[in-house]
Amino acid sequence: LAQLFRPLDLLGMVYRTIRQGVIDMGAMFDLIDTPAEIRDAADAQPLVVGEGHLRFEGVRFGYDPEREILRGIDLDVPAGSTLAIVGPSGAGKSTIARLLYRFYDLTGGRITIDGQDISAVQQASLRAQIGIVPQDTVLFNDTVGYNIAYGREGASEAEVAEAARGAAIAGFIERQPNGYDTRVGERGLKLSGGEKQRVAIARTLLKNPPVLILDEATSALDSRTEAEIMDTLEAIERGRTTLVIAHRLSTIVHADRIVVLDAGRIAESGKHAELLARGGLYAEMWSRQAAEREQALAAE
Ligand code: ADP
Ligand code: MG
Repeated sequence: LAQLFRPLDLLGMVYRTIRQGVIDMGAMFDLIDTPAEIRDAADAQPLVVGEGHLRFEGVRFGYDPEREILRGIDLDVPAGSTLAIVGPSGAGKSTIARLLYRFYDLTGGRITIDGQDISAVQQASLRAQIGIVPQDTVLFNDTVGYNIAYGREGASEAEVAEAARGAAIAGFIERQPNGYDTRVGERGLKLSGGEKQRVAIARTLLKNPPVLILDEATSALDSRTEAEIMDTLEAIERGRTTLVIAHRLSTIVHADRIVVLDAGRIAESGKHAELLARGGLYAEMWSRQAAEREQALAAE
């Protein structure tokens, strides 16, 4: 019976979303994948973000009870600072991002933003204040302009174009015969992984959220385009609390703090230079990637 009610729940949610004028389609579609247990508490209040101080306290989580993915994560991200999370694939980095966006509830510990437990606030208010550039961007079967513009309801064409410029996708869009009205997706123009990432970055630039999550946001870009966008990303990280998950360590050297996640635990943490000097996992990853960069350069 519960199954039968799920679609009705979703319809209700869509209706509320429209009624409140909170056109965050991203959050809306994300919710479709959200387990039914993720609900607002009856007394849930809107999240009020002041400075944007983010904390994870003893966070534990597993997608299923038999397999714990995060085994006690403590993070303290001062307001306006950038925390980078690195580590081997499968370590649980994207899971941390998903928990902050509250795709799932924790099995232990808590996550707070400016002292408010995210599981106790209204989900819509949480998601309205977090911008996420995910590892894999899914676009709507609509125009490329629409796909950027839903980052912020009521954005003007000029603002959409400015965001597209920041994300190094404006030239590509403007070369299409229909410009921003070009349809993308299944029946439209097929975008490459890197182009989709840039659309997601433009959307987030437009949303201009106080809390930002970049989950391997430039992983599908070639290094030249990545370098082009890095300036923009560093500029939007400035003055807002940012979690940046990176595969390429060269993109997070500037972070205020770097944590190395390994098998669901924090193995090391510090600044780039400190971690290099330590000669541990980070130093090992750094020298491996430096060797790869040199090989790639030699091959050009
Ligand atoms: P990372 O981003 O560090 O590569 P993830 O956080 O995506 O790692 O995944 C951590 C672990 O959780 C992996 O073993 C992965 O297979 C598992 N996992 C990720 N998503 C799901 C899911 N939706 N259901 C079950 N297991 C998952
Ligand atoms: Mg990941």
